[in-house]
Amino acid sequence: MTSNRIFLSSPHIGEYERVFVEEAFSTNWIAPLGPNVDAFEYELAEYAGVAGAVVLSSGTAAIHLALKLLGVQQGDLVFCSSLTFVASANPILYQGATPIFIDSEPESWNMSPKALEKAFHDAQLSGKFPKAVIVVNLYGQSADLDPIMELCNYYNVPVIEDAAESLGATYKSRKSGSIGYFGIYSFNGNKIITTSGGGALISNDLDALDKARFWATQAREPAKHYQHIECGYNYRMSNVLAGIGRGQLRVLEERVRARREVSQVYLERLSKFKGISFMPEATFGRSTRWLTVVTLDPQLIAVTPSEIINELEAANIESRPVWKPLHRQPLFEKCLYYPHKEHESISDILFARGLCLPSGSNMRTEDQEKIIYHLESILNSGMKKY
Ligand SMILES: *Cc1c(COP(=O)(O)O)cnc(C)c1O
Repeated sequence: MTSNRIFLSSPHIGEYERVFVEEAFSTNWIAPLGPNVDAFEYELAEYAGVAGAVVLSSGTAAIHLALKLLGVQQGDLVFCSSLTFVASANPILYQGATPIFIDSEPESWNMSPKALEKAFHDAQLSGKFPKAVIVVNLYGQSADLDPIMELCNYYNVPVIEDAAESLGATYKSRKSGSIGYFGIYSFNGNKIITTSGGGALISNDLDALDKARFWATQAREPAKHYQHIECGYNYRMSNVLAGIGRGQLRVLEERVRARREVSQVYLERLSKFKGISFMPEATFGRSTRWLTVVTLDPQLIAVTPSEIINELEAANIESRPVWKPLHRQPLFEKCLYYPHKEHESISDILFARGLCLPSGSNMRTEDQEKIIYHLESILNSGMKKY
């Protein structure tokens, strides 16, 4: 790793992780499961305010198990946010099911209740309902879950809350991830806290979580001779990585504060440019500002997000466009899509205009100054003069 590169979001280890990892080493509890796994599951569930958690090898694995628990199989439909990372929808394909993508709303950039309503309406007409709805909480901000849950409850379809990017956020004072029937977190290296790689499935349904644990450990029946009735997976988190997770969970609140401060500095320094807008923070809860994301109004700013990304890259600064909506991906070419309004696709607009700025909780002040210096000079040369 080049040391002077500024990353979009890099791991930020605290002071407790080593203690838990050291304990795993000194007791030779390296693998597979062990006390750190049990404790991490307990602490995570406690944090989220749910009955239980299963820690896994990735957030993607957690989504996969949630879909399987809801009985999603070959030929089924699953509604899913379009503006997200591909990992939200890949597990739908693992199960042989078909995603139908739902647009964002402008207020939170998350699933549009209007578009969802239209999708349900059409499902009712065709008589083919989805087996599950995957709602993504983007860039550290919860979706507006009350109207979404209301619709899903009305049609009796369970919600999987993809909170991979929103651990630490709230929705109406409840913890992000705890509102859907299942919630999933990711501890991938770029997330707000990390185990170097990992994820979790949370729920109030403890029987379902037990079943998830069973499938995640190769569906091994309780017999000495490795008895198998069902097909399983190797999805569990190791005791060493769970130790990292326990340490990281203890600094989560500090990480949220640091990311929000980074975001605040960008806001103060870049708001003077007409045509720059920040991802709105919805009034219903706290965003972690996992990433600070801006949009550029092409009417006012002549440079495009991709030009800015290239300019920053030349200064060894990593930035990214907003997620390419999944309904635009060749992988999902044939899938249905419901825009926010008939002729207004919010996720497409956000993809065209959006720019994710380096947002790490361990970013040094001088690094952020360097980023702002480059952004100011790019924007000053790119402002349209009238
Ligand atoms: C990172 C991410 C995932 C996947 O998590 P992994 O732990 O990397 O498998 C899923 N959904 C979203 C929205 C993500 O950002």
